[in-house]
Amino acid sequence: MTTPVYENFINGHFLKNQTGDTFAVKNPATDEVIYHVEIADEFIQNAAIESAKQGFAAWSAMTPIERSRILLKAVAILRDRNDELAKVEVLDTGKPWQEAECVDVETGADVIEYFAGLAPAQVGQQQMVGNDFYYTRKEPLGICAGIGAWNYPLQIACWKSGPALAAGNAVIFKPSEETPLGAIKLSEIFIEAGVPAGVFNVVQGAAEVGQWLTANPNIEKVSFTGEVGTGKKVMASAAGSLKDVTMELGGKSPLLVFDDADVSQAVSAAMLGNFYTQGEICTNCTRIYVHKNVYQQFIDELKTRTEQNIIAGDPMDPEVNLGALISKKHQELVLGYIDKGIQEGATLLTGGKALSPVSAPNGYFVEPTVFVDCKDDMTIVKEEIFGPVMSVLVFDDEDDVIQRANDTHLGLAAGVFTKDIQRAHRVIHQLQAGICWINSYGNSPAEMPVGGYKQSGIGRENGIETLDHYTQTKSIYVGMSNIESPF
Ligand code: NAD
Repeated sequence: MTTPVYENFINGHFLKNQTGDTFAVKNPATDEVIYHVEIADEFIQNAAIESAKQGFAAWSAMTPIERSRILLKAVAILRDRNDELAKVEVLDTGKPWQEAECVDVETGADVIEYFAGLAPAQVGQQQMVGNDFYYTRKEPLGICAGIGAWNYPLQIACWKSGPALAAGNAVIFKPSEETPLGAIKLSEIFIEAGVPAGVFNVVQGAAEVGQWLTANPNIEKVSFTGEVGTGKKVMASAAGSLKDVTMELGGKSPLLVFDDADVSQAVSAAMLGNFYTQGEICTNCTRIYVHKNVYQQFIDELKTRTEQNIIAGDPMDPEVNLGALISKKHQELVLGYIDKGIQEGATLLTGGKALSPVSAPNGYFVEPTVFVDCKDDMTIVKEEIFGPVMSVLVFDDEDDVIQRANDTHLGLAAGVFTKDIQRAHRVIHQLQAGICWINSYGNSPAEMPVGGYKQSGIGRENGIETLDHYTQTKSIYVGMSNIESPF
């Protein structure tokens, strides 16, 4: 059976590359190639820049309310096609249908809707300075590049294009080479909604295509989602033409469970923050610090629920709640971390092996894995694993656990479970992380800014402030009297 071949999406239509080079995309749950994608060669790259220049001219000339109406049409189409798009995400990523069906498309659409609503509300300032005055305009940046990771491909494309387009920019988006189809679907939807050709372009490929985007002097900004190491390369390359950057990078986030917490709720949060999307979520609370008074209760309930309630298998089965990891290579990486945990003396509470479910025997599954008796200096406690691997640690002193939680170069997210409201806020204010939850974990509504402290990121996505990251301020001074000149 021949598989489809997708071309790059430039200037409102699919465009064939000249080299004929393609790459294959596999379904992680079956290990089968499901389609091929053409790599953006020099011809495509040049065409993308020309297309985005024209798209920018047309789009930035529209009023914000016109742009808003068109984006809201795209939102309606995204919601209408929820199931079709969710299936694309399941086949590309290996995540469970039961998640994609209610999260991936919906949270993407929510963000475009949010920024479409904000676009006409952006205002400048005006101030008198003596008899003269100045005013400011919020102008778009120009062509913005988006580079995505593979865990939430369509959502990432929406989170980057929503504010960029609302502010009047054109976008060239490069999805991860593991999951290229969601962005293609989004590009078609934008055209169908009435976004002018050239405003949203999709280029395909791996690191080399990403490098081209970050180095190209026609591009004003790069919004990147991916690993810390790649983020550093992107930022260094973007510095060559002094591009603005947004960096959404990795994490090793702590969850602190105090002895007055609702332990069952804390176990729910820990499981969500480690096993949802088979652990491939940047904000995951992979370091769980539990107060010694509730430690045994916590790990007993965690073990029971992990062993009884998790169903791995064909991700399209609506009963399945643990999908396949993105690739064989990533599965091996995660299993390597598990081996390291055992070697370094952590106790395996449950899991620890590759899985071969009956309904998806060739998929890249890993058992939901919990390590207890962990120490702060173990590799599994220090490094992002990006798989279903949780490390549980014990503590008995508030100040000490805050210091331990902060002892990392990462700072994406953090959480606290306690019924003492003063402690909840006191502790969370001291945790060095950009996205924090109290008695909750993982929710990320469009209204809430998200992004990392320390090496987990720069800038924010979502929330009102993000629109500022896609505009630049022009100040205009207006003279109301004759110029006094010494010349
Ligand atoms: P990755 O860094 O390997 O790749 C991300 C993207 O960068 C891909 O599109 C890739 O092709 C591209 N790329 C690779 N090298 C490049 C280069 N030199 N120049 C430009 N582009 C380049 O990350 P990944 O494995 O796709 O995603 C997993 C990582 O993403 C994890 O670390 C996770 O924590 C992080 N992540 C962060 C967030 C967040 O919002 N903070 C969200 C999702 C994922």
